[in-house]
Amino acid sequence: MPQVKVLLVGLSVTLALAATPLAAQQAPPYETKKVAEGVYVYRHVGHQSMFVVTADGVVATDPISPAAAKIYLEEIRKITPAPIRYVVYSHHHFDHIAGGAPFKEAGATFIAHRRGKTTLERLKNPTVVIPDLVVDDRAVLTVGGTRLELHHVGRNHSDNSLVVLLPKEKILFAVDFLPIREVLFRNVPDSYIDDWFDSIDRVLALDWERLIAGHPRQGGIGTKDDVRALKGYMTDLKEAVRIAADQGKCADQAMKDVKLPKYEPWGRYNEFLPGNIERMCFYWRNGWQ
Ligand SMILES: [Zn+2]
Repeated sequence: MPQVKVLLVGLSVTLALAATPLAAQQAPPYETKKVAEGVYVYRHVGHQSMFVVTADGVVATDPISPAAAKIYLEEIRKITPAPIRYVVYSHHHFDHIAGGAPFKEAGATFIAHRRGKTTLERLKNPTVVIPDLVVDDRAVLTVGGTRLELHHVGRNHSDNSLVVLLPKEKILFAVDFLPIREVLFRNVPDSYIDDWFDSIDRVLALDWERLIAGHPRQGGIGTKDDVRALKGYMTDLKEAVRIAADQGKCADQAMKDVKLPKYEPWGRYNEFLPGNIERMCFYWRNGWQ
């Protein structure tokens, strides 16, 4: 009957529209949010960074990309004319730090973990500003009365993560190694599994309440419960893959068979769980820590 066909067509159109989340339709490509007095999160598409504004100057983190950094600096300038004192790299991965030039021109001193600088000097990416200062384990920046602690909490995702702790505000900025309610990235490239567990414990031992992540997925701000949940996920993943490895399933069959239904609601579960399993197969079978 023709009426029924028309209705079905209409229905399918409605469903297709409803399948695109309203937030995705309306989200601007970038946004700056105040999260505490003088503390802001700058988001550019799928990345985000934290910056701290004081009367004596600004401390920024990850300049993301050339396109993102240009707007990042403009966003800071809407808030303050104060000098840009420092840019702190969370780790050396290109997608977080490749846009430093405008900050360098504004006079900022760039800071990274020592191994991050070594790697960046080797890679010589033309849009990456090489750090001026390096941190081994810990450093403290005090700008305009605001204290920022930089901690290297060991190897995790990369061997050179620095987290930024604001002790007064109880805020922690940490990128990529503490995903919020989502599984790990692909087959967990550039990773150190045993040290990663230690890192999580070291982060949990620091005094903070809100975690600002390097990506805005799941809201981009987490809690210690989210970090404990990540440790639970990694523990469950590691154990499930150990059993699969003992049954001779690594890697291809394990990637098909191992499921962790408890984490099904987490971000990118279907997309990346097989890759996470592959990484743990390398851990158990090849000794890839
Ligand atoms: Zn990374």
